[in-house]
Amino acid sequence: MAVPLLDLAAQYLEVGPGIEAAVLEVLRSGRYVLGPRVAAFERAAAEVCGTPHALGVSSGTDALLLALHALGIGPGDEVVVPTFSFFATAGSVHRVGAQPVFADIDPVTFNLDPASLEARVTTRTRAVIPVHLFGRCADMDDILDVAARHGLRVIEDAAQAIGSEHRGRRAGSMGDVGCFSFFPSKNLGGAGDGGLVSSRDADLHDRMHLLRGHGSRPKYHHVLVGGNFRLDEVQAAVLAVKLPHVDAWSDARARNAAAYRERLADLAADGRVVLPGDAPDGRHVWNQFTIRVPGARDRVASRLHAAGIGTEIYYPGPLHMQPCFADLGGREGDCPQAERACREVLSIPVFPELTGSQIDEVCDALRGAFD
Ligand SMILES: *Cc1c(COP(=O)(O)O)cnc(C)c1O
Repeated sequence: MAVPLLDLAAQYLEVGPGIEAAVLEVLRSGRYVLGPRVAAFERAAAEVCGTPHALGVSSGTDALLLALHALGIGPGDEVVVPTFSFFATAGSVHRVGAQPVFADIDPVTFNLDPASLEARVTTRTRAVIPVHLFGRCADMDDILDVAARHGLRVIEDAAQAIGSEHRGRRAGSMGDVGCFSFFPSKNLGGAGDGGLVSSRDADLHDRMHLLRGHGSRPKYHHVLVGGNFRLDEVQAAVLAVKLPHVDAWSDARARNAAAYRERLADLAADGRVVLPGDAPDGRHVWNQFTIRVPGARDRVASRLHAAGIGTEIYYPGPLHMQPCFADLGGREGDCPQAERACREVLSIPVFPELTGSQIDEVCDALRGAFD
């Protein structure tokens, strides 16, 4: 591959020695679960999230499950989610026995449209899960306003958005709970699976803490039915080494995004592509640089593939049309903006270590794909 979508090996060159030393220390310590490294990582991560509390968990999916469970959401409850997201946003709602209700997106930001959210609210709606998709914060002012007026809990799906900001507030600090993923392809990626929940509320944090370990307090006395949602010491050690780099990596992603916007301005001007904009009142951390290619996405994607450029379609189908949710009655036309995005989007490489000549290569291949 001439330019991969993501180059974790390039990143490892920078942080590898630190990671190897930290992991070796864990292996030699004999302390593998919920030890000092998880606690230290949680303190450092809480600071990055702008919240007093953070709890390491086993994945971003488990972060969502834990948050829903801790907020008491279950059978009979409805939770509004954007239909244009990774599956876990809706799957976690179903798994706690509640019903996901699918809302449409804003076509410019790809994020939950507050008007569509409001239109989906019923007397059973208990919560909303705005997703900060591709590293850009959702329109939290309007979403929090709708939530306040209807008494909804707000769970931020910040899996793609660590360090992202909306009007000076960090992703994960605006709702009741922030859910993060450390899957290797996220802006902060572990050497495997991991996640985090952030919160401002000490009681809610305590409830999630209990549920993370089978609701046991003291040991073998179970006050709640929880699960095993723990983060490993080895993962915490890896993440703690990488965390201080995340800001600089996000800045590098933003520089790459700016370079694309400059070098692809001609394709955007004649409407062959639509480029993603920066967040005017916040900080976009560019987990993905996702363009639209109206009417020609699949052809352009296969041309790029042939030219050795890594791309991905995030996401090819809206959640309300997934076979597993067929009994909820979702139909084509329910969420036209999301359905259109699924036909047009294409994510191209934006990872921090991307070089100027690689950016040129991607731009040349993209231009060539229209010939
Ligand atoms: C990655 C992701 C998740 C799930 O995180 P995992 O760590 O893979 O379980 C949830 N929501 C969104 C938007 C994601 O991108």
